[in-house]
Amino acid sequence: MIQSNQANSPNWKLVNVKSDIPQELSKLSELARNIWWSWNNEAVDLFESLDPELWLEVEQNPVLLLERMSYDSLKALANDPKVISEVNEIYNKFREYIDVEHDKTRPSVAYFSMEYGLNSVLKIYSGGLGVLAGDYLKEASDSNVDMCAIGFLYRYGYFTQTLTMDGQQVANYEAQNFGTLPLERVLNDVGEPVIIEVPYLDYTVYAYLWRVNVGRIPLYLLDTDNEMNSQYDRPITHQLYGGDWENRLKQEILLGIGGILTLQALGIEKDIYHCNEGHAALINVKRISDYVAKGFSFDEALELVKASSLYTVHTPVPAGHDYFDEGLFGKYMSGYPEKMGISWDDLMNLGRTNPGDKNERFCMSTFACKTCQEINGVSKLHGAVSQHMFAGLWKGYFPEENHVGYVTNGVHFPTWCSSKWKEFYNKYFDPSFMKDQSNEKIWEAIYNVSDEEIWETRQFSKQKLTDYIKERFSEAWLNNQGDPSRIVSLVEKINPNALLIGFGRRFATYKRAHLLFMDLDRLSKIVNDEEHPVQFLFTGKAHPNDGAGQGLIKRIFEIANRPEFLGKIIFLENYDMLLARRLVSGVDIWLNTPTRPLEASGTSGEKALMNGVLNFSVLDGWWYEGYREKAGWALTDKRTYENQDHQDQLDAATIYSTLENEIIPLYYADNEKGYSPEWIQYIRNSIAQIAPHYTMKRMLDDYYAKFYHRLADRFKMLSEDNYAKTKELVAWKQQVINKWDSIEVVSVDKSEDLMKDNMESGRQYEIRFVVDEKGLDNAIGIDCVVVSTDVNGVDEIYTIKPFEVIQNVGDLYTFQANVSISNAGSFKVGYRMYPKHPYLPHKQDFCYVRWFSSVMN
Ligand SMILES: *Cc1c(COP(=O)(O)O)cnc(C)c1O
Repeated sequence: MIQSNQANSPNWKLVNVKSDIPQELSKLSELARNIWWSWNNEAVDLFESLDPELWLEVEQNPVLLLERMSYDSLKALANDPKVISEVNEIYNKFREYIDVEHDKTRPSVAYFSMEYGLNSVLKIYSGGLGVLAGDYLKEASDSNVDMCAIGFLYRYGYFTQTLTMDGQQVANYEAQNFGTLPLERVLNDVGEPVIIEVPYLDYTVYAYLWRVNVGRIPLYLLDTDNEMNSQYDRPITHQLYGGDWENRLKQEILLGIGGILTLQALGIEKDIYHCNEGHAALINVKRISDYVAKGFSFDEALELVKASSLYTVHTPVPAGHDYFDEGLFGKYMSGYPEKMGISWDDLMNLGRTNPGDKNERFCMSTFACKTCQEINGVSKLHGAVSQHMFAGLWKGYFPEENHVGYVTNGVHFPTWCSSKWKEFYNKYFDPSFMKDQSNEKIWEAIYNVSDEEIWETRQFSKQKLTDYIKERFSEAWLNNQGDPSRIVSLVEKINPNALLIGFGRRFATYKRAHLLFMDLDRLSKIVNDEEHPVQFLFTGKAHPNDGAGQGLIKRIFEIANRPEFLGKIIFLENYDMLLARRLVSGVDIWLNTPTRPLEASGTSGEKALMNGVLNFSVLDGWWYEGYREKAGWALTDKRTYENQDHQDQLDAATIYSTLENEIIPLYYADNEKGYSPEWIQYIRNSIAQIAPHYTMKRMLDDYYAKFYHRLADRFKMLSEDNYAKTKELVAWKQQVINKWDSIEVVSVDKSEDLMKDNMESGRQYEIRFVVDEKGLDNAIGIDCVVVSTDVNGVDEIYTIKPFEVIQNVGDLYTFQANVSISNAGSFKVGYRMYPKHPYLPHKQDFCYVRWFSSVMN
């Protein structure tokens, strides 16, 4: 019988058809692959003008835009002299920007972060931490410093958010097609993909490397989703903040160990290694191992690594740090102690507040604190909170004296200032503005701008926001949220002339989005005043594991659907950078109501500042230092109630009354021209007095002034003459440790009164100690510490008086100080000794402290 069919299965081969861009337009394709375009509006406008409809469809991704455009339409553009001249003009501007040598007077930096928010096309960010890191790289580029950055290219990234008909958050993870993103694969000399081989104890994880050009700054992204890895390791870079603890540890190994291996593979060495959050702290395991491999001892290696490392902490609570069980940590990390020249327990103890406490898990933040010379929080208040949070690491010192510092977060001005406001600033501000953004004098020019001009600029941004909302959400709402008549009525109510109040952020419960809804009758009166319309725009995602956060979204959604709130309180799905940009420029008030002091910094309100939007916020995070009278509104930082519910009620009442009695009347105090001159004066004050201090330029400059320069100078000192001073310092520390317990106070000499624990306020008391340093050479310092105890029984430093060495005979050192207390009352006085050496960066670096016994007191 004849067999009537036979076919084998097709043998497909994937062929990538790259769009063939006409020569004349090839510059566009180069522009598309440097996200410089995302903060240069002319470039964005240019891409949009090529095909405005497609631009919307590809969600402002120029790489995809060029790929989707047909050869014929590209050819047509190539024959249009106007298009060609525009392309050339912008391309020349770009080259002029790019082709500049790095500023060699500033130390170079390698920056490590789990996430980067550069634009909405690259879905490798979840919220504030990422946007901050993205802004930082952009400013590093604008300021032309020598920086590179390491992160992950997530296959799924963070989720996109939709809401069901009853307000339940749905998290959608969409796989990214890396070929259509504004990035490129990193290739080696012979054109093959660079592969980073990262050891995971007994096997290897292979990562591809991608490069995002952030202006002049390269951002390298690791990607494990490839066929070289097992099904257990491919997902390491699937999701941002997804997966279990084991996956999180694998991620942190990839970021830390893999991050340093990446730099080595590319031949990159930097002066400073900056951990943005504790996630990347394992870079120090790798760097120590590498020094040890070169012949240094562990202690020498640690000195060098510390001297070149900065750790920035972003969370104000211990629960926010990453902790790993010893078993899990050992499963992947137990090969490292040998490479570092220490024992397993030594490594574990580097991650513990109390070394030797077997119950303590390995904490990444603790490890970061112990292996980085400098540590900083992200606002003045958060710096102080972090001093307390980490105080247990440096026993013998009070929280407020430890070396944890701060740099207040800022925002990248060209990214967050709308094009309309940029035009405005260009017109009225000194041309040196962009290079001199922290100069208040320049911003004061706002006082010379007319009411009308400011008002019109504001109105333009409001109109733009309301148009954007209608355009972006109407269709989705009609599709997902049923009842078309309700949606139509909602959309119709969105009113650019109302007082618009924005609230956008992660729905973590501490952000207290519910505060506004504590008294619905009162809220209803506020939003339903026909004469003085007020509308609230809410947006934000809740982490998929955060049930409470999702519940909050659901509740707001339900309230927003009640007839009296329809179109007055609006929830906007899927908060991303695109929506953020419109929102922070298009509302009148930015509202922020966190529980004090849980907002480490917050940045959205800073973005709002740059667009003439006023802040109404709890005095927490950046607003604690940013607030000025008649330039915004503040909820006091004084806590009235221990009980959080009571505090919430009080704060809610304050929010309502501030809206009713201050904000709404001020906004609607309009003159015959239809605007409120006093409101505009608030805008001027906010721009002139607050905005100059919250740009990313100021933040970058602060990092250099407070940390990078100091670190680089000290590292240089330690590495001169073949690391002579490193060796000297390590030997000295060892000597002090050996002698420490034998050091003796031989005698004390102080006045009769003081002996009897009586002091007179204002009087100077001379005190002398003679100390036998047992062969150490002037290695000891002594402090007199005076503390007062507050009403809650907490000791606070009143004064610290260091002693001076006035005489030295053999091993005997005489220390003297004059101590006085200028207030009457009850104080505690104590004396402590500590090791001192000119090469130490600060006392906590070598945290030996001995308080003298009470006999000596
Ligand atoms: C700026 C920004 C954030 C951070 O907001 P906070 O004020 O720090 O809470 C989060 N998400 C997006 C999309 C942003 O643009």
